[in-house]
Amino acid sequence: MFKINVNLQSHNTFGLSCNAKKYASFGSVNELKNLLQENETVKDELLLLGGGSNILLTKDFDGLVLKNQLMGIEVVAEDDNYKYVKANAGELWHDFVLYAIKNNLGGIENLSLIPGSVGAAPMQNIGAYGAEIKDVFLELEALHIATGKTQTFNHSACEFGYRESVFKRELKGQYVILSMTLKLTKKHAINTSYGAINKALESMNITSPTIKNVSDAVISIRQSKLPDPKKIGNSGSFFKNPVISTEKFKTLQKEFPTIANYPIDANQVKLAAGWLIDNAGWKGKRIGNYGVHENQALVLVNYGGATGSDIFNLSQDILDSIKDIYGIDLEREVNII
Ligand SMILES: Cc1cc2nc3c(=O)[nH]c(=O)nc-3n(C[C@H](O)[C@H](O)[C@H](O)COP(=O)(O)OP(=O)(O)OC[C@H]3O[C@@H](n4cnc5c(N)ncnc54)[C@H](O)[C@@H]3O)c2cc1C
Repeated sequence: MFKINVNLQSHNTFGLSCNAKKYASFGSVNELKNLLQENETVKDELLLLGGGSNILLTKDFDGLVLKNQLMGIEVVAEDDNYKYVKANAGELWHDFVLYAIKNNLGGIENLSLIPGSVGAAPMQNIGAYGAEIKDVFLELEALHIATGKTQTFNHSACEFGYRESVFKRELKGQYVILSMTLKLTKKHAINTSYGAINKALESMNITSPTIKNVSDAVISIRQSKLPDPKKIGNSGSFFKNPVISTEKFKTLQKEFPTIANYPIDANQVKLAAGWLIDNAGWKGKRIGNYGVHENQALVLVNYGGATGSDIFNLSQDILDSIKDIYGIDLEREVNII
């Protein structure tokens, strides 16, 4: 059953007060199919919603919001080295991480405390602290909205990239992700390639870390660095880190000798969007009740009462300024609705 004219403020981590013309949640695939069938006659635009931690609602949504509440986690197969664990899309991502750690299954500890649902995690190949979902991904099940058929997508079919997958590009809006199966380790390869993790472990006096230690380190780093959406509305990193040619990088480096950079190969360099925005003078800039976070230049914030278009316009001003100063086209990571 639909609810009519539902306020979405508590359903998006920016805390934006927009209304959905219609709203319904589903706890089973059959419920989802029934809702989609009912919608067939009116053909309202659809918005799949998980935790609302990667969307910017720029206006009221003149369609049907479908809130995913497909719950459940189970081991579906096992061999000497791995357990294959399937999680339904409505589970909270961090609850899945905690499940893995409790069961001594490795591979997602570096992705601790990322907000949102399991179903949205492959959408943008979530990543943090030297790990991405694609590193442990086996397959996902998704329902094709137009035909109602369930399909399995293996690793290559998802076409994962940096904060990207086929579901954010060519297949955008065509599928509901129902579940995801990950290949989690029994014999762990601890990944402390990201410097801050090592520092946090050192401060905890840990020399041979377990996956639980790594998860705890990541949680403490995230809690100290990132604004809590419950206190200040935000959607994490608003922009992606741009990748440019080594040639262009060398020219930029002459003008900006301290530019933060991560060479990818001989031809490409990844830049830190946060550095570019900070160096352009945006960090901490506040315009009334919204702005750029004071410690994290990548994070746009709603101090309370801002609108989605305020934040969208701010993001456009930042994109324009980065283009003017460095000649680089930044891209938004957040889904604009
Ligand atoms: C404080 C903070 C920190 C963050 N840190 C990180 C980080 O370190 N790394 C990172 O990668 N991200 C990070 N994010 C972004 C966000 O947490 C992730 O992108 C997360 O996967 C979004 O999940 P969600 O359920 O909230 O998605 P939503 O915001 O609800 O949806 C995001 C998009 O996916 C679509 N969608 C959602 N569920 C489904 C489904 N089942 N089927 C089909 N489409 C679907 C939606 O329609 C929308 O387009 C952060 C966000 C915040 C607020």
